[in-house]
Amino acid sequence: MARYIAKLIGNGIHHRRLRLSGKACRLESLSLEITHRCICRCSMCNIWQIPPEVPDLDLSVWQELLCSPELHHLRELDLTGGEPFLRHDAGKLLQAICEAQPAHFPRLRTLAITTNGILTDRILGHVRPLVAHLQKRGIDLVLSCGVDAVGNLHDRIRNYPGAWDKLQETFAGLYRIRESHPNLILGIKTTIIPLNIRELIPIAAYARSNNLFTIISPRIVTPNRFRNSNNEESLRFTTEDLQEMIHDPSSRGPVTGRRSWAIFAPARSASPAQPGSTPSSFDTTARFSPVRSCRLHWETFRTPPWEN
Ligand code: SF4
Repeated sequence: MARYIAKLIGNGIHHRRLRLSGKACRLESLSLEITHRCICRCSMCNIWQIPPEVPDLDLSVWQELLCSPELHHLRELDLTGGEPFLRHDAGKLLQAICEAQPAHFPRLRTLAITTNGILTDRILGHVRPLVAHLQKRGIDLVLSCGVDAVGNLHDRIRNYPGAWDKLQETFAGLYRIRESHPNLILGIKTTIIPLNIRELIPIAAYARSNNLFTIISPRIVTPNRFRNSNNEESLRFTTEDLQEMIHDPSSRGPVTGRRSWAIFAPARSASPAQPGSTPSSFDTTARFSPVRSCRLHWETFRTPPWEN
């Protein structure tokens, strides 16, 4: 733990120096939105409303980008969407990443993919060869599946009947792959909205019992990426919601437990919760994370800067 804390402090000093000097950081982490198409119609995301006339970027464009010298220091590559596995050429794109990696981003340690976990056959069909290839190169494949609640409420939030059952099917297949490929790191991503704010403890229990890491973050309302400004009213947290989300640090926290909360309690008390304000992220134990505990960034602004 001391080593990780020292590393975090070192990183912080390094970035502060870069900021003061005006020099650019090395690109070590990159997230690519490879499609805006999706089969879900989630309450907190309207990314699927981007009209079909706006095409996804061609495979050739991604191939060119993957050969960019800017990627030389890349350690983490993240593929997201929309639903990434909806691309008909997802296999070719993954193959292009595998082919480009040794020469163009040799320091890669993690390939992460976010999925809603509904396209079971496609997901398992792509993950099996991919994880085997990455294992030989010492790279983790981190798969995060969207989970908004345990059971039927998940279907309701995703606006996709049967989503929970399909997700269970996908997870069952992924657990089998994980048995022989320890570089497959499985987890769940939850977006907190008023509808599921009381589901965090069951979600955490579900994750714990299946050895899944969790990433839990409040919804972001933005006319840009998620195009959900029209839903602002239904996504607004009440004071009671916020109290439900933020537990007393002296009690057991909703997801991570007393120890993690204790670490971050001073930051929280320095910036007390305001109705309408939003904790910007709330991530919990992740095997690939540099620190095996939660990160809680408490910010009191009503509108996060990226929404301006
Ligand atoms: S949150 Fe994910 S699964 Fe839901 S509509 Fe948006 S991209 Fe699709």
